[in-house]
Order: sequence, then C-alpha cells, then structure tokens
Amino acid sequence: ATPMSIIAGVGRAAEYGVLVRDADALQRASQLDTLVFDKTGTLTEGKPQVVAVVTVNGAEDAQALRLAAALEQGSSHPLAHAILEKAAGQTLPQVSDFRTLRGLGVSGSAEGRALLLGNQALLNEHNVDTASLADEIQAQAARGATPVLLAIDGVVAALLAVRDPLREDSVSALARLHREGYRLVMLTGDNPITANAIAKEAGIDEVIAGVLPDGKAEAIKKLQAEGRQVAMVGDGINDAPALAQAEVGIAMGGGSDVAIETAAITLMRHSLVGVADALAISRATLRNMK
Ligand code: ADP
Ligand code: MG
Repeated sequence: ATPMSIIAGVGRAAEYGVLVRDADALQRASQLDTLVFDKTGTLTEGKPQVVAVVTVNGAEDAQALRLAAALEQGSSHPLAHAILEKAAGQTLPQVSDFRTLRGLGVSGSAEGRALLLGNQALLNEHNVDTASLADEIQAQAARGATPVLLAIDGVVAALLAVRDPLREDSVSALARLHREGYRLVMLTGDNPITANAIAKEAGIDEVIAGVLPDGKAEAIKKLQAEGRQVAMVGDGINDAPALAQAEVGIAMGGGSDVAIETAAITLMRHSLVGVADALAISRATLRNMK
C-alpha cells in the first residue's frame, strides 16, 4: 500500500482524459456504489429542439411560438435556446416585466398580454387550467419530450414539446457501469414522466425528478443517509452544490467552470465513457495496493 502507486493511478487516469484532483479523490472513487447523473447536458446532448407545437383555446402556432420566444430571450436555460432557435428569423415583440422563476419557467408581458411559460407546476401555481392539453402533455412526456406550456392572460394556449436526445455513447457507458455493479440514479428538475422515459432508454435504475435547483445537494444527502457511497456527475452551475456534497464530484468536460472547480474529478471529454474509465482505474489502483 504505497502512496506511489496512487500517484501512478492518477497519472494513468490522465492518460485516459480523466483529471483526478488528488490521491484521496482516487481512493474515495474506488469505494463508490451509487452514481447520480444530472440529466440535461450530462446524460443528454444538452441541445434540445422543439419537436411539436400544439395550440388550444383559439391560439395559433405562429403566435404561440413568437410569444414564447419573446419571453425566452431573457433566459439562458437550454429550453430557451431550443425555442429561440425554432423562432429564428421571426420578429419578436418587446417584453416587459420579465421574470425568471427558478425551476418553473419565465413570465412577462408582450403585445399587451400577460404571459407564463414553463412547466405544469408554474401554471398550477397561477391557477391556470391545463385540462384541454392534458392528453397531449402526457403523450409528449411519455415520449421523453419536455412539455413547455404557454398561458396567455391566464388561459392555457400552447404546448411546445422539447426533446433533448441522449448522448450517443451514454447508453453503452451506463451499461458498462451497471455491469460493474453500480446503482445508477438520474437527478433532474424536469417532470417525472419525461425523466422516467429517458431513464428507461438510458438504462437508469432510479429517477429523482422535479428537483428544484437548490434541492440537488439535498437529494445527494438523502442517498448518503441510506448508507450509499455516492458520486455526482454533472456539468452545470446548478450542479456544483451536489458535486461538493457527494463523496466524489465528477464534472463533464466543457461544462461550467464552477462545476469543474468544485469537482474532485474532471473529464476532459464530454462523455460518460470517462466516468467508467475513471472508476475502473480507481478500483484497479486501490486493488493493487492491498
Ligand atoms: P433542469 O436543468 O434539470 O431542466 P431546471 O431547474 O433548470 O432543471 O428546470 C426545471 C424545469 O423548469 C424545466 O424542466 C422546465 O420545465 C422549467 N423551466 C425552467 N426554466 C425554463 C425556461 N426558461 N423556459 C421554460 N421552462 C423552464
Ligand atoms: Mg446539466
């Protein structure tokens, strides 16, 4: 059991594009049993696209898209990018009273109308009846798309279905981790139906959905209280508290600087294959020390 072999392990990890902060991180990584993954940008490509627009109550597709895009100009959320991209080339109305509602969506006024754009919880909070879109919301979510709902003057007007596909190599990397005996968990602010559809496709064991941005670290604590040795894998600023809380925080390459600064392990590539490599090297290194 020499510190030298751990240093060699850190060096070997680097050859695989895995940057390990220190010897202690490699040691902790060898003892994990549960891996928690952020969904957007970690399991998925993080480049969502609008795949359907459905309008009700007299709204028109072009109008719904225009108003939704006008609001999203003020947001940096990946869903906002998708909606703005879909409306590219259109002249967007000016927005006043813009607000970002963390974990829910956005609100504001345009063309003299009060607008809400976001998830079911946001519309519920404002007592907007979404029954006329219920079937469509369910169908899109079951397909793994995120339903983004628009309300105009307190009446539900449209559903924009936004889909963010799994990263190409996520499924095989997760299958490898599964074979190696890890419990795989998804942690997301997205709704449970969409999250479960994607989890099924990915081969994830357990889904923790509808988590508000501040709740991610709390969710890790809960798993730890059950006696699990937890790694958190994420890429966003909002993942940083959870990366810090976990036994080992793993930041995806190309993610936010805050995530990288917080993590014990940083992947140079933006791929989950790096997670499997990192853990295999940690186990092999520590095994050799016994
Ligand atoms: P995540 O990054 O896991 O999607 P967030 O907390 O950022 O989690 O968002 C949770 C949910 O809130 C999203 O899935 C979406 O339904 C809604 N939401 C957040 N921001 C926006 C936005 N700018 N436009 C539309 N919906 C949003
Ligand atoms: Mg993310």
